[in-house]
Amino acid sequence: MDIRSLSEKEMEELALSLGEKAFRGKQLFQWVHDKRVGSFDEMSNLSASFREKLKEKYTISGVTQVEKQVSQKGDTAKYLFALEDGNVIESVWMKYHHGNSVCISSQVGCRMGCTFCASTLTGLARNLTAGEMLSQIYEIQRDTGERVSNVIVMGMGEPLDNYDNLLHFLRLVSHEKGICISQRNITVSTCGLVEQIRRLAEENLQITLAISLHAPNDEIRRRTMPVANRYGIDEIIQACRDYFAVTGRRITFEYSMIRGVNDKKEHAEELAERLRGLNCHINLIPLNEVRERECLRSRKEDIQQFKLVLEKNHRNVTIRREMGSDIDAACGQLRKKFLTKSSRN
Ligand code: SAH
Repeated sequence: MDIRSLSEKEMEELALSLGEKAFRGKQLFQWVHDKRVGSFDEMSNLSASFREKLKEKYTISGVTQVEKQVSQKGDTAKYLFALEDGNVIESVWMKYHHGNSVCISSQVGCRMGCTFCASTLTGLARNLTAGEMLSQIYEIQRDTGERVSNVIVMGMGEPLDNYDNLLHFLRLVSHEKGICISQRNITVSTCGLVEQIRRLAEENLQITLAISLHAPNDEIRRRTMPVANRYGIDEIIQACRDYFAVTGRRITFEYSMIRGVNDKKEHAEELAERLRGLNCHINLIPLNEVRERECLRSRKEDIQQFKLVLEKNHRNVTIRREMGSDIDAACGQLRKKFLTKSSRN
């Protein structure tokens, strides 16, 4: 079992069960999440016998770099990581003026099936543990030597389809005795699983919830997102209104712009109308074209026009700045390339 996924309380209970005092569990937590050591032998204030007992049952399973691509400007790096069982995932590091962001994966693959996305091409292999989500951040902070201040759970996978591990992760990554990343600097992105959004609202978290909307109505949404057959757009938006009412946290809507599908003026009008009265931010994302997928990116002028219509309707909107498009920084593409290469060998 991976020791990184345990909470401080669980470590205290573990220490007690192995015949140690509870505070040894607190020390263990500090080694794992504050000092972030890679082996039990480095935990010098724990007795050798305690360390041996821990080693029998637990591992400190990190992630191992398989490949790293750095953008020409040096402000984006994409990592391909191997997990203990040989599965590979990807994570992205982005340097901004306000700090460094890491975009992490929450599953190996994904079962949501969005037609424009590369992460879902091979289906879902398995969920990531909380420790594996944390390890992506620990390894990138170690590798870059720079503090990570922001986390976005927007890599491969549907985080709300891995709810319990995600929650463990969120509590650990923001723990004051760990890497201590402020919940206000954490964004979780979902394709819109309504029950889980409602559950998340009750968890007393300060994170930002992002919804991948990508369409102004159900008819268009169903063309690219199979999950739209399970939940209607109004049901999702109502869950967002309620989420805001409970948490006071402004919602972000992501809208990937696909040529001829969702980028017309009337789509912008319809979207503005649907979101009326909701405190939210709309992030327009020029589609990253994926070789295996047929979707094309919207034209620049259509994206601009879409933004103008939303602004005229007093909606808060930005166009996502593109980073790392010279490396395979787009949504599951580096892993896909790796899998294709290794299956040919
Ligand atoms: N499953 C979650 C998080 C992972 S995807 C979700 O659906 O939100 C992160 C974001 O990238 C989502 O908004 C997703 O729809 C979007 N995305 C996926 N493939 C893309 C592509 N090729 N171009 C642009 N955005 C893409």
